[in-house]
Amino acid sequence: MTGTQIAYYFLCHRKLWFSSNHIELEQFDENVALGKFISESTYERQKHEIKIDDIVLDFYDSKSKVIHEIKKSDKMEEIHVWQVKHYILVLENKGVLGVTGVIDYPKLRQKVEVVLTDYDREKLIEIEGEIINIINLTCPPKTIDKPFCKKCAYFDLCFI
Ligand code: SF4
Repeated sequence: MTGTQIAYYFLCHRKLWFSSNHIELEQFDENVALGKFISESTYERQKHEIKIDDIVLDFYDSKSKVIHEIKKSDKMEEIHVWQVKHYILVLENKGVLGVTGVIDYPKLRQKVEVVLTDYDREKLIEIEGEIINIINLTCPPKTIDKPFCKKCAYFDLCFI
């Protein structure tokens, strides 16, 4: 389960289905490219991006056991918190305990601290089951027609 899949689960099940079934248009999306650039430039000196199974951590401070996730967004969102909770759980499952997270918003010059609770652990297991069910659907779920659809890489596929 990737952080992107967790994010798309909260955002749009159709987007989750497209992306997870190899209909990938995000590489042509300038918002995704900007996010990647901010992530790379914010931690350029540390160069500590770490890949564990299906997840990629922007930066992990092994001394303080803190995951840093960088978001280009100018809005702090619950989706970002769940992504980091998922990363903490993945590390826990690898035997790395006591991990917390920090979401850095360079545009806002703000940080959000993230901890994983027992409730979150159960909720993430539930979410993962639902994600698998959505991905395995034979057809994509219906469009949701939200304001953010206009910025989505799949907009043309959904509405044109
Ligand atoms: S355009 Fe809207 S409905 Fe279509 S995949 Fe994107 S967010 Fe979902």
